[in-house]
Amino acid sequence: MKKTMTILVTGGAGYIGSHTCVELLEAGFNVVVVDNLFNSKHEAIRRVEQITHQEISFYELDILDKHGLDRVFRSHEIDAVIHFAGLKAVGESCLQPARYYQNNVNGTLVLLEAMHDAGVKKLVFSSSATVYGDPQSVPIREDFPLSATNPYGRTKLMIEDILRDFSTADQLANTPNPWKIALLRYFNPIGSHVSGLIGEDPRDIPNNLMPYVLQVAVGKLSQLSIFGDDYPTHDGTGVRDYIHVVDLAKGHLKALAALNKDFYAEGACRPFNLGTGNGYSVLDMVNTFQQVIGKPVNYKIAPRRSGDIAVCYADPAYAEHALDWRAEKSLADMIVDAWRWQESNPLGYDS
Ligand code: NAD
Ligand code: UDP
Repeated sequence: MKKTMTILVTGGAGYIGSHTCVELLEAGFNVVVVDNLFNSKHEAIRRVEQITHQEISFYELDILDKHGLDRVFRSHEIDAVIHFAGLKAVGESCLQPARYYQNNVNGTLVLLEAMHDAGVKKLVFSSSATVYGDPQSVPIREDFPLSATNPYGRTKLMIEDILRDFSTADQLANTPNPWKIALLRYFNPIGSHVSGLIGEDPRDIPNNLMPYVLQVAVGKLSQLSIFGDDYPTHDGTGVRDYIHVVDLAKGHLKALAALNKDFYAEGACRPFNLGTGNGYSVLDMVNTFQQVIGKPVNYKIAPRRSGDIAVCYADPAYAEHALDWRAEKSLADMIVDAWRWQESNPLGYDS
């Protein structure tokens, strides 16, 4: 009988991680989560178990703790790792770069060492569209030049470089069990699981557009500031590729499957854009929210936010071709699902 595969999910209590755990459990994988709960709550794990009626092996652990990771690898027969754990606030990374390099880059190095020692060399890594910097054109393809405009982005770029180097080294040495790595470059994940039980639960005032819109609509915040209306876009506000977090989560399962396919047979480290290929402006988002939910969103036009780019959306063709994956949910689905979570959990997991 075929053995059930066991996946270690770092950062599995977080926003994207918890949604991916649901998809993994529903697809029949065993799931082991390592999370230090810095930006998440154990309640997220409990809710994933409630949605799926299955159990997660949860470890409250920092990925910088090598001995702790070794114990996890010894306690479970892990087949592959999905690595979400990381700090992700761009503004904070500019103020505390050392903390970001330590947590994200060193944390990943420690994880890689633990994986190597355990002989587990299949990895799906959470990268970001931020590695394209300010792209010269859109839609963005995986072979576009890479750059970063802030320390957070640089941690993603550095980790991608490290992972490419590890993979190349194995190929040069003809290692029998070479690294097989998928770099998933996410565009802008929003929305929530259809149950409304799990969702994005920002610790402080949200930095990202969608959680901010939700908190204005629910009355927690008074007014959205739209950062700039003089960009070269159809209405002057910034354009992004918003993707439903459940579509994104499903992309991780497709990436895991791809690591077992022929085109990874010799080992490789490959990037994939996970986006929809559609760009929506800030005003498109606000207007669609008001239409679909029927609630007003009070906003004002504010100056541009430093470091923001005008337009960013994916060419998802390679992911579709190589992973057999494409985003299926509409912008209305994303907004309705995000609102369901916000309305039923106005204080996030503390509700
Ligand atoms: P999140 O903060 O909700 O989840 C990250 C999880 O990692 C949290 O539960 C946190 O407690 C945990 N964590 C952080 N450092 C850790 C450490 N040292 N040891 C153990 N656990 C640790 O963030 P998310 O939105 O789910 O993002 C997941 C990943 O995807 C991150 O790497 C992020 O950079 C990347 N990403 C996110 C977005 C986005 O817009 N949400 C976009 C692109 C890439
Ligand atoms: N944005 C905004 N007000 C906010 C937060 C974001 O106008 O309070 C804009 C931002 O300038 C960008 C878009 O919304 O054009 C998406 O921003 P977000 O921070 O969600 O994602 P990112 O900038 O990382 O793509």
